Amino acid sequence: MTDLTTLTLAAALDGMEKKQFSSLELTDAFIAAIDKANPHLNAYVVTTPELARARAKQSDAKRASGKAGPLEGAPLGIKDLFCTEGVRTTACSGVLGEFTPTYESTVSGNLFRDGAVMLGKLNMDEFAMGSSNETSHFGPVVSPWRRGNDDAKITPGGSSGGSASAVSADLCLGATATDTGGSIRQPAAFTGTVGIKPTYGRCSRWGIVAFASSLDQAGPIAKTVEDSAMLLQSMAGHDPKDSTSLPNKLPDFRAACSKSIKGMTIGIPDEYRVDGMPEEIEKLWQQGIEWAKDAGCTIKRISLPHTKYALPTYYIVAPAEASSNLARYDGMRYGARVAGKDLNGTYENTRASGFGKEVQRRIMIGTYVLSAGYYDAYYLRAQKVRARLNEDMKSAFAEVDAILTPATPSAAFALGEKSGDPVSMYLNDIFTVTANLTGNPALALPAATDSNGLPLGLQVIGKALDEESVFAVSSALEKAAGFKAKAAKWWG
Ligand code: GLN
Repeated sequence: MTDLTTLTLAAALDGMEKKQFSSLELTDAFIAAIDKANPHLNAYVVTTPELARARAKQSDAKRASGKAGPLEGAPLGIKDLFCTEGVRTTACSGVLGEFTPTYESTVSGNLFRDGAVMLGKLNMDEFAMGSSNETSHFGPVVSPWRRGNDDAKITPGGSSGGSASAVSADLCLGATATDTGGSIRQPAAFTGTVGIKPTYGRCSRWGIVAFASSLDQAGPIAKTVEDSAMLLQSMAGHDPKDSTSLPNKLPDFRAACSKSIKGMTIGIPDEYRVDGMPEEIEKLWQQGIEWAKDAGCTIKRISLPHTKYALPTYYIVAPAEASSNLARYDGMRYGARVAGKDLNGTYENTRASGFGKEVQRRIMIGTYVLSAGYYDAYYLRAQKVRARLNEDMKSAFAEVDAILTPATPSAAFALGEKSGDPVSMYLNDIFTVTANLTGNPALALPAATDSNGLPLGLQVIGKALDEESVFAVSSALEKAAGFKAKAAKWWG
């Protein structure tokens, strides 16, 4: 029998429907795989095998009685940013201690409503701040991928590094993730998986630990474009508990994957050709353009003139919102408390020992750009640039149906390689942040491997609310790329 953990979500659901195996068998296969791999990869920070087995049994009973939901019995991993009822949720920060929510986030709740089984909580950068998963309170996540025969530990990217590593190492069928500046797409690109950040407002933010509320969006990391469409279908939808949640009806995302892209116009933005970009990334992009042409698309050079300001704008807006969102961790109501000699002392001790260095850096940048003397020069100006970026997107989408770019400016790097240099770490997000600032949907898919055998990803950006075109173009590119590379399971 094939190793059940290597199946796609679609194939696993099909196999259960055809009674080839049960959800319990599938779940047990994942629990065994996690037991073996997790000491090496550190992808899960909490595992919930008993809960998973109980849920799987319920799913099997539901399926037997003809009441199976769209994801019935599918074992998934949940990023630790999503509050899960009765299961520790810390956003991988020390400041949350052993915080165990008494409620379920809307997105994870939607997945469970549709039958998904939770295997555990996935590691991530602290409060989703990072691009390499090295800021986690629980230690870095290791990617299953390696550079050729070199056994140096490679980053799966961040902040959803646990999600990406787990999906790519077959430790779940798919995972939830979040993307504030690229945290779904960059880890997906680094690990040969697929990740989509939908239009801002498609997924409810209720019950997701907030980082930068005007940018945060949930989305899936999955093995294929079709799997990502199926997961998004369950995760998304209007939620009155989030005032920024969109009331729009959800299209059939899975059906969109098989739509022809013949006659579509694909925009290629000049500004995504950055200095020092490795030749391999340029080659990958050209290859993507050829694939789109072969599928019957018209290719159009476009300009997104304010692109070079997107990264500095992001690194003002995101820390500003974070500094405000993180003010609530004062040791009074949540998680860990380190007592001081008075109330202020307790605040100070709790925040100084609970937050890691990167989070402290963001809080300092955020409070600085919002402070009286600097608000106009930084925060207000960043808001103005954000409006320009929105105009760039609007005028581009008056001419094209989708935009194609590389997902990241390089392949994955080794752990420790960039952690001492925040600016070089921030540069990882150069191709992804714009879609967060403008709210457009964007998907990263694996398209090739570099000379060391590491995955490289392409990014497809769509018009607001047009995930369907994003899925259609991405599926066509996925088919053309025929990406089959897989990390060897060196952990035995
Ligand atoms: N890497 C970016 C940051 O550190 C994006 C993080 C994210 O999308 N959550 O802010």
